[in-house]
Amino acid sequence: RPIRLTDYRAPDFVIPETRLAFDLHPTQTQVKATYRIERRGAADAPLVLLGERLILKTLRLDGVEVAPEAYALTPECLTLSGVPDRFTLEIDVEINPQDNKMLEGLYMSSGRYCTQCEAEGFRKIVYFPDRPDVLSKYTVRLRAPKAGFPRLLSNGNLIDSGEEGTFHYAVWEDPFPKPAYLFALVAGELDVLEDRFVTMSGRTVDLKIFVDPGMSARAAYAMDALKRSMRWDEETYGREYDLHLFMIVAVRDFNFGAMENKGLNIFNASLLLADAQTATDLDYERIESVVAHEYFHNWSGNRVTCRDWFQLCLKEGLTVFRDQSFSGDQRGHAVQRIKDVKMLRARQFPEDAGPLAHPVRPAAYLKIDNFYTATIYEKGAEIVGMLKTVVGAETYRRALDHYFETHDGTAATLEDFLSSFEAVTGQDFSPWLKWYVQAGTPVLSLSATYDGDTQRLTLTVSQMTPPTPAQAHKAPVPIPVRLGLLSGAGAPLSFRFAGETVPEALFVLTEARAQWVLEDVTEAPVISALRGFSAPVKLTLTEPEAHRFARFRGDPDPFNRWEAAQSLAKALILDPHGAAADYAEALRATLTDPTLDAAFKALMTGLPTEMDLAQSLTPVDPAFIHTRRKAFKAELAAALKTDAEALYAALPAETTFSPDAASAGRRALRNALLDLIVAAPDSDADRSEATSDQAGAQAVRRPEGEAPLERDAAKPLSAKQKIAKAHYHDARNMTDMMAGLSALSQIHGAAYQDALEDFYARFKSEPLVLDKWFAVQAACPHPETLSRVRRLITHPDFDRKVPNRWRAVAQAFAANNPAIFHDASGEGYAFIAEEILSVDRFNPMTAARLIEAFGGFKRYAEPHRGLMQAVLERILGTEGLSKNVAELAGKALAG
Ligand code: ZN
Repeated sequence: RPIRLTDYRAPDFVIPETRLAFDLHPTQTQVKATYRIERRGAADAPLVLLGERLILKTLRLDGVEVAPEAYALTPECLTLSGVPDRFTLEIDVEINPQDNKMLEGLYMSSGRYCTQCEAEGFRKIVYFPDRPDVLSKYTVRLRAPKAGFPRLLSNGNLIDSGEEGTFHYAVWEDPFPKPAYLFALVAGELDVLEDRFVTMSGRTVDLKIFVDPGMSARAAYAMDALKRSMRWDEETYGREYDLHLFMIVAVRDFNFGAMENKGLNIFNASLLLADAQTATDLDYERIESVVAHEYFHNWSGNRVTCRDWFQLCLKEGLTVFRDQSFSGDQRGHAVQRIKDVKMLRARQFPEDAGPLAHPVRPAAYLKIDNFYTATIYEKGAEIVGMLKTVVGAETYRRALDHYFETHDGTAATLEDFLSSFEAVTGQDFSPWLKWYVQAGTPVLSLSATYDGDTQRLTLTVSQMTPPTPAQAHKAPVPIPVRLGLLSGAGAPLSFRFAGETVPEALFVLTEARAQWVLEDVTEAPVISALRGFSAPVKLTLTEPEAHRFARFRGDPDPFNRWEAAQSLAKALILDPHGAAADYAEALRATLTDPTLDAAFKALMTGLPTEMDLAQSLTPVDPAFIHTRRKAFKAELAAALKTDAEALYAALPAETTFSPDAASAGRRALRNALLDLIVAAPDSDADRSEATSDQAGAQAVRRPEGEAPLERDAAKPLSAKQKIAKAHYHDARNMTDMMAGLSALSQIHGAAYQDALEDFYARFKSEPLVLDKWFAVQAACPHPETLSRVRRLITHPDFDRKVPNRWRAVAQAFAANNPAIFHDASGEGYAFIAEEILSVDRFNPMTAARLIEAFGGFKRYAEPHRGLMQAVLERILGTEGLSKNVAELAGKALAG
């Protein structure tokens, strides 16, 4: 049943030309397809077209209607035998966009028609060889009533339009042959924000961003990001845009972030619309990166596409690497790298360590939609980054030029990508293929011996990748290690390597183990390895705690400085006796260092998340992690109270909003300080006021060892509640407002409840903001959240059919609230299981993504392990389960 990479066969037929005509109707859209078809395979090969949920009306071959006995029709394909070598096929089908709640193929969102075809949605529009290696030149005619559907959009250039009574039509032609997954159409009432871009060769491109009526001002930032992306791709990769028109449309109902359809990107509105009042700095940051990502796909994905879906990371890994580089150039590389690694570790490392582990190029799948994963995207990007590190920036650029030029207009493979590196260097890059075909995160072990007499440092390094499901044995992979040294006092220490005195060197470990010898090392050093996180591995290095503190205080590599702090915090939190005093001293030095920028300080202030900590503890005890983290944070906050309050006071809220990186960094620091301030234990005065509440507080179940909870009754606000409340009410932008609200949610109590009500009243008619209101409640780490999420799903504004809204509750709870999701009662698990099953009935792709929350169950302590296993078994035993959920739940259980 699964589809395997080894089964790949080139298509028997190609379709150089495709004409589509849509007569748009909410429940009975008529689609007429006309294909020019040519045989490429065996003379007796039948023509197999894929199609699902289609009503076939007529079928004509070279103008002659095909009799029903001359073709075979199943729910998934249409097969014609004995067809000629060259012919024209006309197919009429009917589809129902209104009823399409899978949000794949042609569907309706807020009364508009839109499409999503990647990966296999085109077959829900019309019969076609829906595979990425069949490239065709499309001409598309759209027809709809003028009233309600003034805009008719598709890929390419508008070549004709006109009226037919109360109807109108538009004809679009895309001159670039493309696979069906890049097809798109949009029809409806939309406002537009327009601009222009002059390319490096002097061509003018019209830029149009279409949004809900009245919202065009909120597309200004996306437009700005688009123009910067277009310029950047010219300057950094020499890639120029190729049509005279580039359009983006924002829709509310969308299964994921955005889609790179040729010349007509379609975006989840949450990744496009922004202004100070409704979007946070994180939203701005993501908009900038996703606009860039989808634009960059025009070359890495569209001009050069994928031969088959196993090569998905050919376009996704490369494009993520490109968008990360862009964001780094726009916002600062140190901070960008830390954020990218946080994300990799939060999402990809657990995937690689659990039953859903799969290679960046998987070998088999049931549903390709299940493989739009952190592994394919983020680990895929890391591999491209490592290649760039080992060959250097200039050679990398030449390799990429070679790749784009050689494969332009074709569907390529990962081997093609690597062979461009071979072509420009003359070296063998086949060892790099192992990174693509082998799952699991390699463990890199490093030990050092220093000989003071010879001033020689010998590093012994080895690598080992633990087994993953269906892959017991692992071969070594090439691991680039950027490495520098510090003196015991924390100053940079240069050394001699390969005949040169250097402040840092790049080593590449290609075998299972190796020794590297560094000369002229004047004292026993502190080792700073894997700078910039030069490879996506887990580093183990046995060293005194003092060495980590030395890097925390002054590693010239900002990534390793942050890394040292994180690894110290992790060790101290997971040690039941870990104390925060020394850590607080080092953090104080960081926070008061005038040479460091605010965004970096904000990152340094953040402690590892409970999810991060769970990866370093076996078996995982979520309540222990929650309690210990909270206690450590409280101790840290108490030690830094005076400093944090002073620094906070010295950073007043800004009255005018600018989304630029420096301003966002200042807000991030101020909000990180707020988070620390509210983590401090209440003063003695606060505590005595709270004692009368203890009886009430005990009634609420809570993790062992936590301080009593404030009851929601009216009582004087503590000092920190006052600060958080003022932060919320004085906020002039959504970033500060959400920071205030989330600080209040940490403290809980009446001020939190009041703020929630205030927030709802202000934003009840702003869907994207209301999503935040739902999410903050679902992520609140208070035991009361277990009953609150049950109430939230009965709220009149809750709607499972809108993925953004559903994820705001279900995903925020399952992924961002580990203490409560993993409540020992199992109620959190039961809630998420019910949600997955409800959504699976109409939107399998989105439902399946949440299975991941149960993926690591075998690593958990009882009762969690048994409870999660039972939930997975219950899901898997449900009748009518989708392939999507069945594949992931099955793997999660089996792994
Ligand atoms: Zn992408």
